[in-house]
Formats: sequence, C-alpha cells, structure tokens
Amino acid sequence: MGPIGIFGGTFDPIHYGHLRTALELLQRLSLTEVRFVPCADPSHRDTMTVAGAFRLEMVKAAVADQPSFVVDDREFKRQGPSYSVDTLGRLRSENPSVSLCLLMGLDAFLGLPDWYRWEEISELAHIVVAHRPGWRVPEDGVLGELLRERGTDEAASLHNSMCGRIFVTPVTQLEISATELRTSLNAGLDPKFLMPDSVRKIIIESGCYVEDS
Ligand code: ATP
Repeated sequence: MGPIGIFGGTFDPIHYGHLRTALELLQRLSLTEVRFVPCADPSHRDTMTVAGAFRLEMVKAAVADQPSFVVDDREFKRQGPSYSVDTLGRLRSENPSVSLCLLMGLDAFLGLPDWYRWEEISELAHIVVAHRPGWRVPEDGVLGELLRERGTDEAASLHNSMCGRIFVTPVTQLEISATELRTSLNAGLDPKFLMPDSVRKIIIESGCYVEDS
C-alpha cells in the first residue's frame, strides 16, 4: 500500500488551488488516497469563517467525483481546537505500518513552527510541501535547517519509510486564495471557474458568504 496523503485546512471555501494541488501530489507521489481533513475549530483564524457544516458540505461536494479523494470529518466529532498533531496521532494509531504524508502549501509550511507541538509531526508523518505563488522555500532559520536535515528529492523515500522526511515540490501555480474568494463573494461576484460548480451552487444557494448588512 502506498502512502496516505492528509490534506488539512479550513477550506473556507475549497477551491481549485486545493484540488489541483491534491491531484498532482496524488499522482506524482503515487499516494493511495488524499484524505481531506477540514478543520472544525479554526481558533487561529480571525477572518470571516462560515459554519463548519457548510465547509464540510462543500468539501464533500468538491471531491465526490474524484476517485482516491476522501473526506475525513473526524475533527468535527471532537470537542475543542483542532490540532494537526492530534489528528495525525489518531491516523497513525489506525495505520501503524503505512506511510503518512501531511500535504500543505508553502505558506502553511512557513507557519509550521507556530503549530501546537509541531516538532512531533515528523515522528508521525512525512511533510509534503507544494509551492504556492508568492512564497519562497526557506533557506535559513529553523525551517531551513529542518530542510537540510530531513529534505529529500526522492518520492521513493516517502514510500520506504513511514515518517520524518520533507519533500518540497512544484505544482501548477494557481493564484487562488480562500481569503480573496470570501471578499469577492461578499461583494456579490461570481466564483465561476475558480471552484467546482457543485461548490459554487452551495455558496450561491445558501448565500453563506454574504455578510448581513
Ligand atoms: P486563505 O487564503 O484564507 O489563507 P487558503 O486558500 O490558504 O485560505 P486553507 O484552507 O487555509 O486555504 O488551505 C489549506 C491548505 O491548502 C494549506 O496547506 C494551503 O497552503 C494550501 N493551499 C491553499 N491554496 C492553495 C493554492 N492556491 N495552491 C497550493 N496550495 C494551496
């Protein structure tokens, strides 16, 4: 069995930047699946966030037709803040002998040292970092050092061991961000061609990104 990809995020809302990145990583790394894990309690966020139930519904709609994309709603079944290290710990217990790859964009990787118990993540999973427009791979500091210690260019090393390596890779660069989408949706603009139609339909029918005036 190949590695399982784990793609966490607020997905507020999910868009083609997430989906295309996940598909390219699935194919390039021969992952068995990409597991989308929406964050239930994004307590680190202070910008507008729609109800978790909507974000979850949109992720489910987005991946419905894509084989090997699955939605994992475990963070919605737990109380309190959603910490990646806890989710990874549970996935590791459920899959004791499978390689796990935590997938993230370069912007998220640059914030890694602020994550709760971040240093334990490498004991649970590999970290796969996808380039994202506007962000540069760190050469210095704690992350630069981590990359020198644990970085690999060999996708095979993500298969040959269960955790601990860091793989940084280009993907098709799509300059789509959920923050910008929320702003344009609130202004009444159409998100067509930036996300699947199934997600667009939920947004338009619910009006969930239009703030009450
Ligand atoms: P925001 O713009 O509000 O920060 P976001 O678009 O980054 O949101 P998140 O749900 O926070 O969406 O992102 C989940 C993961 O997807 C993160 O690891 C992030 O780096 C990655 N990601 C988001 N957008 C892209 C993109 N356009 N290309 C590659 N990776 C992306």
